[in-house]
Amino acid sequence: MRKTKDMDWQSLGFQYMSCDKRYVSRFREGQWDEGSLTGDPSITLSECAGILQYCQECFEGLKAYETVNGDIVCFRPDLNAKRMAETAEFLCMPKFPEDRFIRAVDETVRANLEYVPPYGSGASLYIRPYMFASGPVIGVKPADEYMFRIIVMPVGPYFKGGAKPIAVMVSDYDRAAPHGTGHIKAGLNYAMSLHAHEIAKEAGYPENMFLDPREHKYVEESGGANFYFISGDGSTFITPKSGSILPSITRRSLVYVAEHMLGLKVEERPVEFAEISDFSECGLCGTAAVISPVGLVHDHGRDIIFGKGLEEPGPVTKELYEKLTGIQLGTVKAPEGWIHKIA
Ligand SMILES: *Cc1c(COP(=O)(O)O)cnc(C)c1O
Repeated sequence: MRKTKDMDWQSLGFQYMSCDKRYVSRFREGQWDEGSLTGDPSITLSECAGILQYCQECFEGLKAYETVNGDIVCFRPDLNAKRMAETAEFLCMPKFPEDRFIRAVDETVRANLEYVPPYGSGASLYIRPYMFASGPVIGVKPADEYMFRIIVMPVGPYFKGGAKPIAVMVSDYDRAAPHGTGHIKAGLNYAMSLHAHEIAKEAGYPENMFLDPREHKYVEESGGANFYFISGDGSTFITPKSGSILPSITRRSLVYVAEHMLGLKVEERPVEFAEISDFSECGLCGTAAVISPVGLVHDHGRDIIFGKGLEEPGPVTKELYEKLTGIQLGTVKAPEGWIHKIA
């Protein structure tokens, strides 16, 4: 039996917790050092660090789970490694090598094994790799020095109350500009969406639906998750395609599950906001919540309701959720290469 921390796994929220070890690597004089684990949760920075002045920062998010067999695994970390390298390139930051990214995730999880929630608890170990400009800059340019870190923390389900449908609100604001930074996983996109998120929360909606920034005609995504829809006849999985949404790994995995495991048709295409009232189901997908069923979209005094609304998720959403979480927890056979064993 693996030893675990004495913790009430059932009551975990989605909150920072300082675990025993974190991974740190520094980029100086044109190269990454070999990196190591440390027990120190604090960072000392130049007052003029690039992150503090011009927001050069990016991050990733993935989870480690205990499977039904007692293995500790994570889900498609190669895609996180690749996406982070692509994001770094767009922000004029050095890439952290993809193979090293995966090894660093392994090392960090192994050093905090006692924090991985037990199988069946519904909780998981959230893994947050991130990178930022640590070198000083005042003239506008990329910094010369960077820090890559990985922190981990046990988390419960992102939305308390599990897979209960949520209501989302159409935002009047945009989270990303056309030809901007919407497709990269950078903290600056989140800074941009906080104001709209607070407005939605005050109005009683836990998430926003952002529309395309050019015309407000097409569905984009929420602040931190992609949307999918199920056609009125239940036959088709439809997900927005746009240059300004983040390529979610959960969404890409659901596309595969829908097509190859549930026998649905799949459409990845621009989705007009005007057509969503024809759909039977709607959901948000991302690592944090896996799937959050959406029962209602509030649009300026009008409510669009999917299926049984806020009462319960639709049948396809339930199946998608069962299959994907089953793959992650080892109760459903995973497609080749999706599950990465750590311990
Ligand atoms: C991280 C993120 C998602 C979800 O991506 P996953 O890879 O599925 O976790 C969706 N939208 C935004 C804006 C994100 O930052």
